[in-house]
Amino acid sequence: MDIPPGTTSGPDRTSLPQEGSTGDRLDAVLVQRWVHELDRRLRASEVRLTELDAAIGDADHGANMTRGARAAAARLADEPGSSAAQLVAAVGHTFSRSVGGASGPLYGTWFSALGRTLPGDHDADATELAAALVAALGAVQHLGAAERGDKTMVDALAPAADRALAAARAGADLAGTLRMAVGAAEDGALATVPLRARRGRASYLGARSEGHQDPGATSAAIVLDALRQAAGA
Ligand code: ADP
Ligand code: MG
Repeated sequence: MDIPPGTTSGPDRTSLPQEGSTGDRLDAVLVQRWVHELDRRLRASEVRLTELDAAIGDADHGANMTRGARAAAARLADEPGSSAAQLVAAVGHTFSRSVGGASGPLYGTWFSALGRTLPGDHDADATELAAALVAALGAVQHLGAAERGDKTMVDALAPAADRALAAARAGADLAGTLRMAVGAAEDGALATVPLRARRGRASYLGARSEGHQDPGATSAAIVLDALRQAAGA
């Protein structure tokens, strides 16, 4: 059957598998859902993130993260036709531009590096996403010079990247890889409680930073869990 030019986006298209509906690749629909979920989840967690930052910082982490996610959701609404990689990079630019403090540039860098590392010509599978998580971690560490155990977002992002890589190499699909990454990030965030902060504002407190969960590690686990949730994993 001949299809006249300009009609390929007609009703027939609805019978095609909907991109992103299976969540087995990181496609543009999934990124849009991720940012929508992130906006919702961070608003729900704003008070908790504020309280965590009040204990060892300046009580602005909840506001910083919700501002970034809201701006990112607004930005993505204006990005029809962009690839997943381009959308993730746009989230990075938005965080860098609209969020102050340490976390704005750090999350901006994380999302930008993730977007840069994801394949530009096709939607990432589990292995490619894991590789991008490793690269994004490297960019955050390059900017902020935090090592594991310094009581920062790195304590969630690093084990998440490790675990994602191991899962993908062992043959896990995107959903399984994300579940492993989120579990590692949540464990990593909890494990910051006894640590003494060696980077960021909390490091000024020295031993008084011990006994509190790091706000940035906590938000990092939420960022990854929002992706897991968006993928239906
Ligand atoms: P600020 O500390 O400027 O008020 P936020 O409160 O938004 O910014 O973010 C604080 C979080 O940023 C910390 O809980 C920590 O996880 C993270 N952070 C701070 N400095 C660094 C760094 N050098 N490397 C990685 N993460 C950092
Ligand atoms: Mg703060």
